[in-house]
Amino acid sequence: MPIYSYHCEQCQTEFTELRRCSEMDAPIDCPECGGRESQRMLSGFAVGSGAASTASSSQPASSPFR
Ligand SMILES: [Zn+2]
Repeated sequence: MPIYSYHCEQCQTEFTELRRCSEMDAPIDCPECGGRESQRMLSGFAVGSGAASTASSSQPASSPFR
């Protein structure tokens, strides 16, 4: 189950929640104020910042080049 980040519009609190993909845009209670005005934020792993670093290192580390 992926982790989604939410931002509460009432108390400006940011929190993360483990949810199903089908429930990611469903209303969720804020853990701080209990409000349901939270907005889902774009999570970091969805952008794919970590995938670029692994692709650049195409040279094999364990190559027996003698
Ligand atoms: Zn809140």
